[in-house]
Amino acid sequence: MFSINAPRIISLFGSTGSIGTSVLDVVRHHSDRLKIKILTAHKNIDVLIAQAREFKPDYICISDETLYAELEQKLDGNNVKILAGAQGLIEAAQIDTDIHIAAIVGFAGLKPMMAGISHCDIMAVANKEPLVAAGPLVKKLAAEHNTKIIPIDSEHNAIFQVFEKQNHAHISKLYITASGGPFRDLTLEQCEHMTPAQALKHPNWSMGSKISIDSATMMNKALEVIEAHELFDMPADKIDVLLHPQSTIHSMVEYDDGSVLAQLGASDMRTPIAYVLGYPHRIATSGQILSFDQAINLNLSPLNLDRFPAIMMAKEAIHSGLYARIAMNAANEVLVEAFLKDKGHISFGRIVPYIKEIMVKQSPVMVQSVDDIVDFDQQIRIQTTEFLSKQNLHNKQAS
Ligand code: NAD
Ligand code: MG
Repeated sequence: MFSINAPRIISLFGSTGSIGTSVLDVVRHHSDRLKIKILTAHKNIDVLIAQAREFKPDYICISDETLYAELEQKLDGNNVKILAGAQGLIEAAQIDTDIHIAAIVGFAGLKPMMAGISHCDIMAVANKEPLVAAGPLVKKLAAEHNTKIIPIDSEHNAIFQVFEKQNHAHISKLYITASGGPFRDLTLEQCEHMTPAQALKHPNWSMGSKISIDSATMMNKALEVIEAHELFDMPADKIDVLLHPQSTIHSMVEYDDGSVLAQLGASDMRTPIAYVLGYPHRIATSGQILSFDQAINLNLSPLNLDRFPAIMMAKEAIHSGLYARIAMNAANEVLVEAFLKDKGHISFGRIVPYIKEIMVKQSPVMVQSVDDIVDFDQQIRIQTTEFLSKQNLHNKQAS
């Protein structure tokens, strides 16, 4: 395990996305020691086909099974086994590899992640939503199989790099940095009616559409607070978010001797990806490196929690229990999708307040298994969709 010389065998779930394509860029840069065995995508068969031709995996999986026949026909003559559908994704996750990269977006990544934990040495997690909705189950299974969970999310990867496990009791704070997104300098009223196109323009990072909207609402940071709570076993009151417009310090750990350790870098996901792919050794990134040829300003300030209410909502969800986290995540996924469809069903400024309304409607529910979590997630999706229709009806009648 973890030899520097043996080639690393990788399964990449969500290969056609923003994280997926960055992973493949690093793999391309280290083709002598990194080998792709499995690629999966949801619908984008053209990109998946191009990736299959270039990286020659043993397996590919298209989770939208209506595209299977077309994929098979287009890859005829290529020596690759094609899987499809939700079951295909589970089958793919049950093939042994050294590193499983979880880069699917949203709660949809939970089942493949759970299925993959016993079939890899390292579960490399970009896909934060399963940790939010099911973190204790993911961690328990990983501990049972001696699988190491390493975060790709830049903030958590930064913390992982400076986190002294042996000094856990001496950690007084985790500081997660936040750029503040595209509307950082606007009031809540000013961003009420921002369009999807405006919300998708992140100042520092280029990412998939769901996480870009989450960054604009600060729900991404809210999810990240819970992600940090799970990954580093830290209570909510020891996790703070700092506004840091430059996104150069990716996050920090404060110890009780007064030392604050940070990891810095360019806003390029290929750095945390290279860290994970080489772990515990360092391998060169194929991306940007921070340059100190010119002066760099680092501004860090406490976050205005009234302006960004998503953060307190996440901390309250940690205190309430897993059901509240599942509700928060599921409601967010439904509302972001509705917002991205841009049919005027929900304005940008309603996303966080509506999540809150869905959350306060819930009474505690015992969720102990993956099936319980999937069921509860589904109930919340239905409730959120109904809630949104009612709001729209109400708004129409009022106008
Ligand atoms: P993306 O939308 O660009 O890509 C998502 C990938 O998942 C695609 O390959 C898509 O085919 C696949 N997919 C989508 N829906 C699916 C479904 N229902 N079933 C199976 N596969 C599905 O997203 P992204 O920006 O790459 O983000 C992926 C995950 O990584 C998210 O959880 C996000 O929060 C996290 N993350 C992303 C970044 C970033 O820079 N993009 C940074 C940190 C964390
Ligand atoms: Mg992040």
